This record gives sequence, structure tokens and C-alpha cells, in this order.
Amino acid sequence: MKKDFYEVLGIDKNASAEQIKKAYRKKAIEYHPDKNPGNKEAEENFKAAAEAYEILSDPDKRARYDQYGSAAFDGTGGFSGGGMNMDDIFSQFGDIFGGAFGGGFGGFGSGGGQRRMKGSNLRIKVKLTLEEIANGVEKKVKVKRKIQAKGVTFKTCPTCNGAGQVMKVTNTILGRMQTAATCHTCGGTGQIIESKPNHADAQGMVMEDETVSIKIPAGVVDGMQLKVTGKGNDAPGNNSIPGDLIVAIEEVEHETLKREGENLHLDLYISFAEAALGTSRDIETVSGKVRIKLEEGIQSGKILRLKGKGIPSINSYGNGDLLVHVNVWTPKTLNKEQRHFFEKSLTDENFIPHPEKSDKSFFEKVKDMFS
Ligand SMILES: [Zn+2]
Repeated sequence: MKKDFYEVLGIDKNASAEQIKKAYRKKAIEYHPDKNPGNKEAEENFKAAAEAYEILSDPDKRARYDQYGSAAFDGTGGFSGGGMNMDDIFSQFGDIFGGAFGGGFGGFGSGGGQRRMKGSNLRIKVKLTLEEIANGVEKKVKVKRKIQAKGVTFKTCPTCNGAGQVMKVTNTILGRMQTAATCHTCGGTGQIIESKPNHADAQGMVMEDETVSIKIPAGVVDGMQLKVTGKGNDAPGNNSIPGDLIVAIEEVEHETLKREGENLHLDLYISFAEAALGTSRDIETVSGKVRIKLEEGIQSGKILRLKGKGIPSINSYGNGDLLVHVNVWTPKTLNKEQRHFFEKSLTDENFIPHPEKSDKSFFEKVKDMFS
């Protein structure tokens, strides 16, 4: 870490302890996660300011920093540079803000310093056919969740008396300072286990199979992740919040249809004779079979657009299209009679290509498809 801690706080090298504290308070308010939800840059700045304050507010560390720079703290037990977590930062706040700003980051309740533990997320993959993706589907999946065993009882943590935090008093050059730290006995929940059934682990948890129903909207894309709130692992404690179930979508390749965003492509092969005489064909779509008509004299390479027979858009209204690519199959072998027929047709005016202006070239058709 090569940050200049003075620069981070916007102060000069001769700043007094009071100026350092004031500068940090300003930065902490400006970049506080509650004020900048989801803003990664603000979070980084918030952490950087806390790290800078951690060093510069301590006269010993500050002296070491002034002499050796941030290298003095890299990899040492005292400060690992960039290693501060949000709990450390918030526990520092008791001193800076007098408790007015505590708690409050991503699901930790602030009531009395008690922490609501959130369970870990579970991840599963769900395979979907193109038909399921096109129409939306409800899937039932079996997950193994860690949950609190039945019969577990809790009592108030004797170390922190249920507060979840313990106050530490340290003597510094600024006088006596009080900081709040997470209680190690209860991990911040304010409760410990009173009794639990034998099959539960030390935290009163057991693994259990649960069938979870997942509503998958139409139009999902391979690799997309859906969240089922509250269906992850439970966390220990009476008032904990369960984690989430993260569902990763996997699209199973279709036998005949190729997906391209919301559009689908189908290669259709017709015979020489069918192209010349015209025909009709039943083709498979994601919403059942559809009969299409091929005009007599249809050219190989023609693309028929079936409006709305593609995949629904997940973000807006409307469906993509199904694009049917017509391929005329040329016979690979001919018998004598057939050979004779084609040889005769070599000079036949009807068999000589003369594309009209309205027969778009392949490149124009491709351009059309994407417009
Ligand atoms: Zn405790």
C-alpha cells in the first residue's frame, strides 16, 4: 500500500491531533456506506480514511509512519494496510462520534450495539431448456440448509450482558478513550446457547434438506444469477437473518434452435424439387409447432422471419423473432436419367440464375436481421 495517509485525510504533515480527528470525522461522514449505498468507490475511500486515522491518531504509529512511510506497517502484526474490516471501523466510531453513528452496515441492526448475524449464502445451478426459458418455469430444487435445531434455547451473554459489545478504555495522549469492540463470548449477538439437543453442533445448528420452489421468469440468460431471499444458511442466534439462495442459470443447448439474445435461428433444409414447386413445413418453435409456407421458386439462403416466436425480453416488453434460414439441398449423386435431365437444363433459360433487384444479397439479409 503506497497511500499517503496525510493526503487521504486532506491534511498537512504538521496537523495536530485535533485536526486529524476533525478531518477524519469529515471524511467518514462524506463516505459513510449508509449515505452511499452500493458505491464501491465511497467504500474504498471510507476504508482508506479509517486506515489513515488508525495510524495518524496513534502517536507511536504516526512517528513510525513519518520516518519509514507505510512500509513500516506492511505485514506487521500491528497494522496490515488495507486489512481493516467494517466492524473495526465502526467500533472506532464510538470515540469519534460519541455513539451517534454506530452500527448500521448491510444488515447489522443498530439497536444497543447488538449484531444480527446473517447466515451464509447457498449456491446452486439450475439447467433449463430453451422452452422453459421462453415460457418461464417454476423449479423445485432440493437444498441442504444449515438451520437452527429445534429445542435450542438461548440466554443473555454474561460477558456483555446482552449488549453484543464490550467497552475498552485506553489511555492515550488525548486522554482516556473509550472504544466499543465486538464481544468475543457471543460474537456480537448478545446471546449464548443455554441448551441444545445432542445432534446439533456447538452453535446449535443442524443440516436439513429442504425443497425450495424457484419461480424463474421468462427470458433468463445462461450465467444469470437469481436470488431467493432467506433460503441460504441460517446463522446462529435468536434474531439472526438467514442468507440467500443464489441460483445460477444454465441453458441446455437445443437440438435445432440456436439462441442469439432474444432471437432464435433455425436451419431448414428443403429439396431442389420443394424449392422449385413450393411446399409447406411444420417447424418446431419454443411455443409448439408452426406450419410455414414456402413459395414456389424460393431461393436458398432466404430468411423467413416469424415475428414474436423468439425469446421474451427479460428487461422489457416484447419477444424476439424466429429466423428460419432456408437451405436448398443439392443432390450429391444422380442416376443416369437425372443426370440427363440436368444436362439438358444447362441451356434452359429457366435454370439460368438471374437475381432480381428484390432478391437481397446475403450481406443485406444479415444486415436486416440485426436491425
Ligand atoms: Zn457477549
